Amino acid sequence: MNLARFPRRHYTPGFTPLEPMPRLTAALATESGGGEIWIKRDDLLGLAGGGNKTRKLEFLIADALAKGADTLITVGAPQSNHCRLTLAAAAKEGLDCRLIIEERVPGSYSEAGLGNNLLFDLMGAASVRMVKAGTDLAAEMAEEAAAVTAAGGQPYIIVGGGSSPLGALGYAACAQEIMVQAFDAGVAFDRIVVASGSAGTHSGLIAGLVALNAGIPVTGINVRRARAEQEANVLKLAQATADLMGTPQPVAEDIVALADWVGPGYSLPTAQMVEAVRLLASKEGILLDPVYSGKAMAGLIGLARQGAFAGERVLFLHTGGSPSLSAFAGDLRNPELT
Ligand SMILES: *Cc1c(COP(=O)(O)O)cnc(C)c1O
Repeated sequence: MNLARFPRRHYTPGFTPLEPMPRLTAALATESGGGEIWIKRDDLLGLAGGGNKTRKLEFLIADALAKGADTLITVGAPQSNHCRLTLAAAAKEGLDCRLIIEERVPGSYSEAGLGNNLLFDLMGAASVRMVKAGTDLAAEMAEEAAAVTAAGGQPYIIVGGGSSPLGALGYAACAQEIMVQAFDAGVAFDRIVVASGSAGTHSGLIAGLVALNAGIPVTGINVRRARAEQEANVLKLAQATADLMGTPQPVAEDIVALADWVGPGYSLPTAQMVEAVRLLASKEGILLDPVYSGKAMAGLIGLARQGAFAGERVLFLHTGGSPSLSAFAGDLRNPELT
């Protein structure tokens, strides 16, 4: 694995912290042992508000610049962290950015919305256009790109979540970073737990860990799809990422994407998510988010209570998302969910 061969922009100085969470570990201790829980602070990555998309954008934006692009086009949900960070990268690089917002939950988008919606406005998106759930997003982005070209611009399309093989390199790089930090700290991990959405994070991590022959299993926690569908998505993208790197192919046995903490659907609140967000905030002073890292942590908590981590040292990969918290205040304070 030789990632220095790929053009890359640098948006984070150095590594993100790798820390133990002793108070969460104590809170989850069971008779069989709840596992020793650590955290990789990718919520502290660079660009406005941080989070996992920053690592993918380092490779995607370098590619856009190499191709002479002046306008980025991407897509996401109303509270998309990916749209926020793509826009932040565009601002920093002096590019225009056009966002297509897919209203996955009917009625969930408002131009006056808080959280990431507000940040789309502050960072100066060239356009924000809402489309209904189920719209052909590739076609919408192609149409947007054609409009940019017709106006004399040079568009660059970034797929949802930045989850292309090139974007997923960011998480192969993260696998490498984790291995270096773990070696440096003299701390061997038995498992990594991570949110699994558009799959670039999960897939890149797997491709990197397989390439490094790390022998650390990854437990993905779905935030949107059914288990079999997501595992197939992750495998396909992990294999395409390995192809791009010229490294050994991940296999189906490497992929686990549990769907037990999705709840009623993408971005819809669950009592376990609210508990997870409140527990991390009150025990460790770390902010999760309701859509991704809160549900992933709900999965970690659920698995710890089931005894799944007995005797293990577990690393939770914090993918970020806290800038959306204010938009979900009603859910987080809903007495029926607490
Ligand atoms: C996008 C996102 C995820 C999911 O990552 P994917 O690469 O899309 O699977 C997890 N957490 C946060 C905060 C995100 O914004």
